[in-house]
Amino acid sequence: MPMTDVLTRKQRSFNMGRIRSADTKPEIEVRSRLFRAGFRFRKNVANLPGKPDIVLPKYATVIFVHGCFWHGHAGCPKFRLPKSNRKFWSTKIKKNIERDEKVLDLLKAEGWRCIVIWQCELPRGSDKFYDRLFRLIRQGKK
Ligand SMILES: [Zn+2]
Repeated sequence: MPMTDVLTRKQRSFNMGRIRSADTKPEIEVRSRLFRAGFRFRKNVANLPGKPDIVLPKYATVIFVHGCFWHGHAGCPKFRLPKSNRKFWSTKIKKNIERDEKVLDLLKAEGWRCIVIWQCELPRGSDKFYDRLFRLIRQGKK
């Protein structure tokens, strides 16, 4: 079997696992908490830079829920490059970080307040985090 096939398959399975466990669940949790607290929002708004995960027009606020791996959370224990294909992954993650920064600049220039929530910041069952988040959002009320 050619080497490239092996690498591709490995990368793909790694990829899938990360997407499922790292990105999707935290987003769902944040949305349901916001909804239960009475916030109304749009999700994955495609006509805004970076397609924000959550958009709260009433508060001129967008929220991104970042998986620590994909978005390269600096100094985070959840951000560890895989042992194989290090070069590939570090280049990829670096590009993601650069894109994220650009996206935030664009959104801020359009007058949006941006809140980035990292996956590792979401402690299960803790209301403290969400109290703080809700307060932060309400500060942006127009
Ligand atoms: Zn993190």
